[in-house]
Amino acid sequence: MKAAEGHNHGIRRETVPAKGRWSARLEPGQTLTLVDTKGQQAVDFLCYSAELPLDRINIPNTVKLNKSLYITKGSRIYSDHARVMMTVLEDTCGYHDTLAGCCSCEIDKVRYGVVKTESCRTNFIAELAKWAMAPSEIVSNINFFMRVPFAADGGVVIADGVSKAGDYVVLRAEMPVLVVLSNCPQQHNPAAGFEPTPVEVIVADAPADGGA
Ligand SMILES: [Zn+2]
Repeated sequence: MKAAEGHNHGIRRETVPAKGRWSARLEPGQTLTLVDTKGQQAVDFLCYSAELPLDRINIPNTVKLNKSLYITKGSRIYSDHARVMMTVLEDTCGYHDTLAGCCSCEIDKVRYGVVKTESCRTNFIAELAKWAMAPSEIVSNINFFMRVPFAADGGVVIADGVSKAGDYVVLRAEMPVLVVLSNCPQQHNPAAGFEPTPVEVIVADAPADGGA
């Protein structure tokens, strides 16, 4: 790979506050590091092709092609068109959820009897609006740092997270992608350890020499 002349090896580092949201466009080779700064903090994650927005993260394709319900080092995120969108380069946590989707005001009223205004779904709606994308673009997502074990009989629960303070996952964009995050505001199950906390996001350019 030839390095672009005059292109700086840039790093952009931001804190996403507790209950907050974030999005960015990444170019191929750029990496996104998500740091669970305090531990046990679910980060709900969506991604879309930046050039063909109707091609987007597809969880069943991702599960089938990785042959696993968990995302971890070496996993790839696949699109509706079964293209590789991103690859997980590093993971200090061990596994990340593909089953539980995002929390919403609607399901939290049903399952916990609470009326609320904040949820991953409302975060996704607000963040997608920045990119002129509608709520109908919300599909099943990955939950980084969230643990949803499943039993042989099909039983599924949202369990206590196993991520520790400082655990991180590194993803490399394999195509131009729009990534959208919700730092889960949930306080009625263990997704955010019952106490939502900030996370850190780091976007780094591909190595200038194309190596290592
Ligand atoms: Zn949530």
